[in-house]
Amino acid sequence: MLAVDLKIYRNSALRASPDPLMALREIVEFPDPRLRTKARPVTVFDAQLTQLIADMFETMYEAPGIGLAATQVDFHQQLLVLDVSEEKNAPMVIINPRIVDSKGSQVYQEGCLSVPGIFADVERAESVRVEAQDIDGKPLVIEADGLLAVCIQHEMDHLVGKLFVDYLSPLKRELVRKKLAKQRRNADSVAASA
Ligand SMILES: [Zn+2]
Repeated sequence: MLAVDLKIYRNSALRASPDPLMALREIVEFPDPRLRTKARPVTVFDAQLTQLIADMFETMYEAPGIGLAATQVDFHQQLLVLDVSEEKNAPMVIINPRIVDSKGSQVYQEGCLSVPGIFADVERAESVRVEAQDIDGKPLVIEADGLLAVCIQHEMDHLVGKLFVDYLSPLKRELVRKKLAKQRRNADSVAASA
């Protein structure tokens, strides 16, 4: 159902003449060492930042995904975009986030645009209170639970160079690395023979 909704969204978005200023960014994939970079705080809220945010939304919706950290497009400042709504009509920008309170725990089967095709159960807080800044640098407080809380915690991990596969055992993580390497080899051979 979600996949169908996304498809409709993407088609109608394309029909509504896409903003020519927006561009897809390349998503860095595990085990690329750039994903281990610790992001610095955003200090300049200017047109360049707005452009990057627009590109990140375009890239996230196209993938499709429900969240994207700047780290994943090789920009190492503390910036996240997400949209966990089924209709893909609730975009959120979270800048310089800090978790100031968290409660409970939940297990959710997570995936990641930087670890394509891999899904694994990860335990995280059930609810979080986050202090952050919005696209203009104004203070922002977010009370999140359920999927939104999972997504925020997952994306915030990216900003400190952490990936959801880090929660797996070393053996499982090695299997993920091998599976991705195999996927890439297969994709390359298809491209070469096309
Ligand atoms: Zn991710």
